Amino acid sequence: MSSSAADYPEPTPDRQVELGENYTQILKEMTQVTSASNIDSNDVHLVCVSKLKPASDIYSLYKYNNVCHFGENYVQELIEKAKLLPKDINWHFIGSLQTNKCKDLSTRIPNLYSVETIDTIKKAKKLNDTRANIPDSSTINVFIQINTSSESQKSGIVFNDLETVLELSKFIQNECPKLQLKGLMTIGSFLNSTSSNDNEINQDFQNLSDVKHSVEKALGLDFKLQLNMGMSNDFHQAIKQGSNYIRVGSNIFGQRPKKN
Ligand SMILES: *Cc1c(COP(=O)(O)O)cnc(C)c1O
Repeated sequence: MSSSAADYPEPTPDRQVELGENYTQILKEMTQVTSASNIDSNDVHLVCVSKLKPASDIYSLYKYNNVCHFGENYVQELIEKAKLLPKDINWHFIGSLQTNKCKDLSTRIPNLYSVETIDTIKKAKKLNDTRANIPDSSTINVFIQINTSSESQKSGIVFNDLETVLELSKFIQNECPKLQLKGLMTIGSFLNSTSSNDNEINQDFQNLSDVKHSVEKALGLDFKLQLNMGMSNDFHQAIKQGSNYIRVGSNIFGQRPKKN
């Protein structure tokens, strides 16, 4: 079957309008926050989190609003969607990652832009080595996931375990030619995201920023690590505290169905 534009999953007209409005509203809020805080808006990127939402929703934003960065949480779902949708979409994997899924991720999605939940050397190595086996494959941007709230159910390296963060950062830098260390990612605790008001700092975001400065200093990097933090209910505060990548799902796509 040839792939022409007609093969892509079109949204209904109503859905197209709804998604466009929601997306535009987020852009507007981002601009309000950056200008009020004297932040260069070019330093803040929006990733639209489309997990458990239909491919037609993604195609709608791609076609009618020129969106090309989308985040997904489940490897199998991402593989299916990547097959159905335009090849110039940049896919961000933001879900919790198991070592045995790294190969599928790196070999079955040519246009995988980033993996944002790396927390062990084993996962970095697996992702790198399997990607390296694909001729002419692009490098994958990676973010190290940091557990900034020390909640036991959260994945990521605990923020005060700097030694482990440095070890993993060096491994990616020195031993993983197919990976590009891009920055650090966190999911703030629900409590901190809802309790911080306009004048109050979010301690999780502060912790991530502190880790970033420590890693930059210790590794003598000649580039700045990017901060990947902020979701629907806390992205304003995340931007104020220096976020470079916000991941917004429900404020754009609406409530998600339960994962079965
Ligand atoms: C689902 C998810 C998001 C989006 O969350 P919303 O609250 O719907 O904006 C962002 N980041 C991660 C890691 C997620 O799993």
